[in-house]
Amino acid sequence: MEFEAWWLLVPLGCFALGWFAARVDIRYVLQDARALPSAYFRGLNFLLREQHDKAVESFVDVSRRDPHALDLQLALGSLFRRQGRVGEATSIHQSLVDRHDLPKEKRELAQFELAQDFHAAGLFDRAETVYEQLAGSTYEAEAVTKLASVLEQEKAWQKAIAARQRIQKLSGEPQGRFIAQYHCELAELALAAGDTANVTRHLTDASSANRNSARVALIAFKAAFKADDKPAALQALSELKRTSPGLLVLISDDIVTLYERLGTPQEAVAQLASAQDEISTTLGLSRLVDASIKLESRDIALSRLTRALRSQPSAREVARLLELESEKHDVNAAHTMNEVALLLRNATEKTPGFHCGHCGFRAPRYYWKCPGCNEWESFRATPLGQ
Ligand SMILES: [Zn+2]
Repeated sequence: MEFEAWWLLVPLGCFALGWFAARVDIRYVLQDARALPSAYFRGLNFLLREQHDKAVESFVDVSRRDPHALDLQLALGSLFRRQGRVGEATSIHQSLVDRHDLPKEKRELAQFELAQDFHAAGLFDRAETVYEQLAGSTYEAEAVTKLASVLEQEKAWQKAIAARQRIQKLSGEPQGRFIAQYHCELAELALAAGDTANVTRHLTDASSANRNSARVALIAFKAAFKADDKPAALQALSELKRTSPGLLVLISDDIVTLYERLGTPQEAVAQLASAQDEISTTLGLSRLVDASIKLESRDIALSRLTRALRSQPSAREVARLLELESEKHDVNAAHTMNEVALLLRNATEKTPGFHCGHCGFRAPRYYWKCPGCNEWESFRATPLGQ
């Protein structure tokens, strides 16, 4: 009996120890809470009641009295921006930037945050100005990278080139692939304006920034085709086939016209067929069949299509096959075949012809900069059957 009574004391002891530990913790918590200025709690209260202006005022008051609370405000501002509450983020960061008693590093951080608020709000001019003001600061490299993205969105290509050159200098990271794209944008503007000298200049600069850009070859082809410079067009075409054969679909009509002008139209079909052999794409097959119908014959086009579909079936191209075949049959059979073809076409109507190799974004047209992930030259013609 004595043994059992001793055991009854054990839970009692544990309870006493727990109570003591809790008491100690609460004492520390109360001590910490007393150390925080009342303005901090006022700020939180305003925040919970969604009175953001008053909350900011209180937090400014806290940060004046307590240098550690400055980090709290910066964290709060950044949090607001991430939640899409850009107005509140801007007022916190602006109030910090306007203060003259901040240490240099904190002021620069507040400026960097403020520039990102303007950027997120779409106020590109203001974002650009603040990012520029961070030259020589701790945040210069990050600020210039963000500045380059603002300048891209503004399509300020010359300034974007200068920003990329600065990034390269500051971080040592090669920026050639971006610089080449910006020069290509300028070359396309010059091409549309008929400014041949500037097309050549920008393509030369783009090419020295990135030797393997398919876009440079494509614009060079378009410029030479426009000027009816056949040797230059052929050279650009062979370069495009080397760097990105899947992109021949973007200029397939011009390729047909070019070889027609040269008096060797069958060569256009040969070029499209060999590109299709290298990278089998839905659009590539479709363009090849178009060219074959125009320059060879309907029967040859049909046999090209049948061969391609045997190795890689595609509902959309089977519809094409049925339409072409229907012409060989009587009215009733042709009608049925065309009906089936129409059903197949409707089922695949929205099948996009291109996709981003980086994020998978699909689109019926080609983009040099992916609208999904903002990556440059990541779009590809979608493989046959996908
Ligand atoms: Zn993408």
